[in-house]
Amino acid sequence: MSQPASVFWSPRIADLEPYVPGEQPRIADLVKLNTNEHPSAPSARVIAAITEAAREGLQRYPDPESTQLREAIARRHALQANQVFVGNGSDEVLSHAFLAFFQRDEPLLFPDVTYSFYRVWTQLHGIEATEVPVGEALQIDIEALAYRAAQGCAGVVIANPNAPTGQGLPLAVIERLLLACPPRVVLVDEAYVDFGAESAAALVDAHPNLLVVQTLSKSRALAGLRVGFALGQAPLIEALARIKNSFNSYPLDRLAQAGALAAIEDEAWFSAQCRAVIDTREGLTLQLEDLGFEVLPSQANFVFARHPQRDAAALAAALRERAVLVRHFRQPRIDQWLRISIGTRAQCSALVEAVQAILEG
Ligand SMILES: *Cc1c(COP(=O)(O)O)cnc(C)c1O
Repeated sequence: MSQPASVFWSPRIADLEPYVPGEQPRIADLVKLNTNEHPSAPSARVIAAITEAAREGLQRYPDPESTQLREAIARRHALQANQVFVGNGSDEVLSHAFLAFFQRDEPLLFPDVTYSFYRVWTQLHGIEATEVPVGEALQIDIEALAYRAAQGCAGVVIANPNAPTGQGLPLAVIERLLLACPPRVVLVDEAYVDFGAESAAALVDAHPNLLVVQTLSKSRALAGLRVGFALGQAPLIEALARIKNSFNSYPLDRLAQAGALAAIEDEAWFSAQCRAVIDTREGLTLQLEDLGFEVLPSQANFVFARHPQRDAAALAAALRERAVLVRHFRQPRIDQWLRISIGTRAQCSALVEAVQAILEG
């Protein structure tokens, strides 16, 4: 229940509609497919590195620049360390980016169906926004975005693959957007890119207006550690550092820096686990289609599906009664869809069995 606005609040805070994360209930044996977490534990090398870091030096402040971590991320993406910014989850990085680049007289552009936190940051930072409708098949309308951007804008934000649809865009299309508004930043949120889409990191050196944001929460199984990063040319990274150093100059703690570094360096764990999620996703997609669902082609660690005969909210509620959590958004255009995270094979089977029972019941 939200409280009435307090007389003590700044007006902008009173008007905020904060982001609502997927629920994290404490129920045993829950099949939790509602927040796109990784189904496996992180790499053992991550746990070892965090344990080691906990033994030494917690009484001292961490490296404010996260130098080793930034160097490792830069190496992996064939960039320089001054082209990498790290923060407490990509949500923090994104919030800094909105403040750094999009507080202008013209509106920020993003699709109407996308990560719902974007709208919250525009409210928080007092940014005017124009939401550009996605197409009939819920795909991002790049032509409409590029057309609108060319008329003047504060910048463009897209998630690739998009949330919550899971659909990815090829790099040529991203490039089209980068060229549509060269004096403004195009932010590409790649939270799910490792599950089969193409990263725009390869375009950073050629495009001074590109900022790519990634997270270790999804593909590295580190949602609990809170590490995300941005890739861009040095002047963009410098802007983010200016905000960080005017807000919290030690954003990543010692444990997060150590764990994230080990995660970035464990390429073997990473590629095997991404492959496993993709394989499970393809299997689940076929099973859901067999049950009569329409499933959007996904390049993420979730699928977006609807059943032509069943109300999505009712289906989500019925699943919940069977201890299976999926995500339903009460939002125009997508309120008949369910977002289902890719769990382990056993969790996906449990979901399919529960859906089957509900459809037959
Ligand atoms: C999960 C997610 C994020 C946030 O990730 P954190 O790094 O955990 O803060 C950002 N953008 C999108 C599209 C996401 O789905």
